[in-house]
Amino acid sequence: MEATTLLQVQCLKVVDLRGIYNGLCVNCKGTISDERLLQFGICEKCLENVENLRSWKDVLEALKEKGRAYFAHEIYDFHKRFNEFSLFFKRAVGQRMWSLQETWARRILLKRSFSIVAPTGVGKTVLGTVAALYFAVNGKKSYIIVPTALLAYQVGEKIDAYSERLGIKPRKIVYHAGLSEKEKRAALEKVASNDFEILITTERFLVSHSDVLKGKSFDFVFVDDVDSFLKSPRNIDRILTILGFDNSIISPAFQLLNLQIEAKRLRGIKKNSSEILKQIETIRREIEDYKSRENIGLLVVSGATMKAKRTKRIKLFEELLNFQIGFKPEFLRNIRDFYIKLEGSIESQVLYLIKSFGSGCLIFVPSVFGRDFATKISDFLNAN
Ligand SMILES: [Zn+2]
Repeated sequence: MEATTLLQVQCLKVVDLRGIYNGLCVNCKGTISDERLLQFGICEKCLENVENLRSWKDVLEALKEKGRAYFAHEIYDFHKRFNEFSLFFKRAVGQRMWSLQETWARRILLKRSFSIVAPTGVGKTVLGTVAALYFAVNGKKSYIIVPTALLAYQVGEKIDAYSERLGIKPRKIVYHAGLSEKEKRAALEKVASNDFEILITTERFLVSHSDVLKGKSFDFVFVDDVDSFLKSPRNIDRILTILGFDNSIISPAFQLLNLQIEAKRLRGIKKNSSEILKQIETIRREIEDYKSRENIGLLVVSGATMKAKRTKRIKLFEELLNFQIGFKPEFLRNIRDFYIKLEGSIESQVLYLIKSFGSGCLIFVPSVFGRDFATKISDFLNAN
């Protein structure tokens, strides 16, 4: 940060604000400083020194030596899988993932359903396609849903190109309006007989060929760039089915939503809602049990915008998949906490900071100083 350097040169002492976090040591779940969190996330109690450790493998060995290996192996396993995926990606695509793709890849490997709100051309399709291939070599089934026949064809081509580089031969089925009648029939037969690892279709297929999809379940469903996808209640129902949810759990989930409304109503008129909250808790547990028992698939939905009214079905979706529908464009923030010792008047120092960093900033005034002080600063800044 250029402006920071400038400040330091001018001997305005800039000091990093340090923090201590409870329960965040990834090994013992104890207290840890932010400094250690930024290294391996292992607290001083678990390992006094981490300076000489280069990899997670080293960390794990050091912990074992000390007899303090508790939860670190989970992280180690995850890093191993992530590295494996990174290499797989690089071999397939010919270049490394960039940071946003890495973030999505982490969530996918953690089996967390999520939505991507990002403009086209940031590598969503590439990541989804490589993930499907990665699952295919691990014996898992994926379904890629795209908006148009042309895109279905292109994703198919991409899969072929990547497979060749990887030296693998996944069984894939591409179904779209551009196929001949004969090709369509052959594709449908293959879908029906489960003869594939990756299925690629347009979103229409979900509705027009729901019969073929009946009883099929997928480990990974990637909805690519279909903006209005979640607006259709029918799509939501079908997606839930192919992810492995059936009515035995969907109806209790609906009941849970009704109970939430009732609890809110009771709170509104200041009546006791504890009985209802207990019922909600019971259903939540039922859902969690179901999910761990039934091996529910992973869903990633991407779009340039993701406007969806929070209808009951969308809420059902969020409840069953722990899935928050993203409303804002996604980008990674870079946040740092600083404080500066006051030298001279507050007003002139604020002015100096704004001039160094440039436009686009928010100034918060402590409420103890009152509104008058905020006005005073504002007047001072406007005058200068
Ligand atoms: Zn620890």
